[in-house]
Amino acid sequence: MTGHSSILWSDALPEPRRTRPSLESRVTADVCIIGAGYTGLWTAYYLKQRAPQTKVVILEAEIAGFGASGRNGGWVSGSLAKQHKYLDALSADDRRIGYRVIFDMVDEVGRVIAREGIHCDYHKGGVLYAAARYAEQETRLRRQLEKLHADGCGEGDYHWLGRDQARDRIAMRDVRAAIFSPHCAVVQPARLVHGLADVVERLGVSVYENSPVTVLADGEARTAQGVVAAPLVVTAMEGYSNRLPKLRPYMIPVHSLIVATEPLDDAAWRSIGLHNREAFDDSSRQITYGQRTADGRMIFGARGKYYLGGRQIDAWPMDHPEFRMRVNLLHDLFPQLRGVRITHGWGGSFGMARAMAPHVIFDRARGHIWGGGYTGEGVAASNLVGRTITDLILERESELLRMPWVFRNDAVATRLRSWEPEPFRWFGSRAISLAFRLEDQVCRSTTAPGWRKRAVVRLGDVLELLMR
Ligand SMILES: Cc1cc2nc3c(=O)[nH]c(=O)nc-3n(C[C@H](O)[C@H](O)[C@H](O)COP(=O)(O)OP(=O)(O)OC[C@H]3O[C@@H](n4cnc5c(N)ncnc54)[C@H](O)[C@@H]3O)c2cc1C
Repeated sequence: MTGHSSILWSDALPEPRRTRPSLESRVTADVCIIGAGYTGLWTAYYLKQRAPQTKVVILEAEIAGFGASGRNGGWVSGSLAKQHKYLDALSADDRRIGYRVIFDMVDEVGRVIAREGIHCDYHKGGVLYAAARYAEQETRLRRQLEKLHADGCGEGDYHWLGRDQARDRIAMRDVRAAIFSPHCAVVQPARLVHGLADVVERLGVSVYENSPVTVLADGEARTAQGVVAAPLVVTAMEGYSNRLPKLRPYMIPVHSLIVATEPLDDAAWRSIGLHNREAFDDSSRQITYGQRTADGRMIFGARGKYYLGGRQIDAWPMDHPEFRMRVNLLHDLFPQLRGVRITHGWGGSFGMARAMAPHVIFDRARGHIWGGGYTGEGVAASNLVGRTITDLILERESELLRMPWVFRNDAVATRLRSWEPEPFRWFGSRAISLAFRLEDQVCRSTTAPGWRKRAVVRLGDVLELLMR
């Protein structure tokens, strides 16, 4: 692995991208959206679908899809980060509605892709949450399944696969068990985001690129060269929200990195499984994710670091230890992949609010709407947020507006908790990721005594509780 990293998804885009103009004047709009990732584009899409006369302008700092939307692992997952925080507070009936809304995100993404003819390899093969490395993961997975079933989810939503059944689906070296859920699809993320950008333009949305917003004021968003005056401004910057001073205390950028193999032959796939292109993880608290791409590659990612002061990195050299760590982990899980060429490595950042759960906040008094905080699970969730913001703007009373992550008359400052000041924020995040790594190492060891394994698992549980 040498050379500079490159994003598999961008390299595999079908044709050279069309360049879009930057904003160089004062324009007016009904709605101005900051950020041309999924959140901004889904919002624009539903606005134009439901109220075609609405004048929508999108301002993007780089190019559409530059952020996490063009770089992610391609899980279109029917779940929200820390959803239990919201759902646990609901009545049993409302909780069932909440789960239905969350599961339906996957199909709604699929419906739009089919309707608009976006070629992005969407395939709904479900997801395997595999206890792949040590016994404590299996215990944790069992607890998760019990909780989901207690919440009213059925066997058709989540079911247990014992060792042999799991191994038939995914031949990880030490797989012990897995939960299978049908509520997940996979996509080629960059094709989705670029396809969406083209669709919204066809619907009449103006998309300005290389136009970073420097000031978010009431009734307008300013760039170095121009202004969009609009009574409603939607901030859809997610992992980049800290670039606007007003949002800096509430959202931090956390990195995630991925490696991709060369296309594998049929024999290799027979030795691995994933015959229905199921998404998969290894149930580590470090958060891993993988998929079998439409062209037969294995891609595998794991959550990375938060850097001091919220520094963001967009590219790493291929020989960077962050990539080596992921390749080692991939080989540990699938020894049959040793010797296969790693062709790509890349990463990006996503947004994490202090609650580690997503939100839609409408500061009605100022005309500001903010959606995001997906904590690494935003591909499908951004669709839900886009529809929700549309209902807020068009004042359509809908089921979505009654969801517990929607705050209709709230300022960001009163709704969200600030992150701890630096350097405590950085120390805290480093300590947590080191503890999770230590847990994996100790529990995986064949020589570590039982008391040490119990201690690191307990520490992990306590840290997860503190993160609540
Ligand atoms: C490596 C990686 C893997 C991931 N894997 C998955 C996965 O498999 N499944 C899943 O559900 N989620 C995944 N995620 C998270 C998911 O990609 C994001 O939650 C989602 O893409 C967020 O979309 P968004 O539009 O809100 O933000 P983004 O796509 O980040 O878009 C924000 C946009 O705002 C622009 N911007 C920044 N500053 C300004 C400014 N001042 N003015 C104007 N524009 C600005 C940026 O350039 C960017 O294009 C992953 C994230 C990463 C980084």
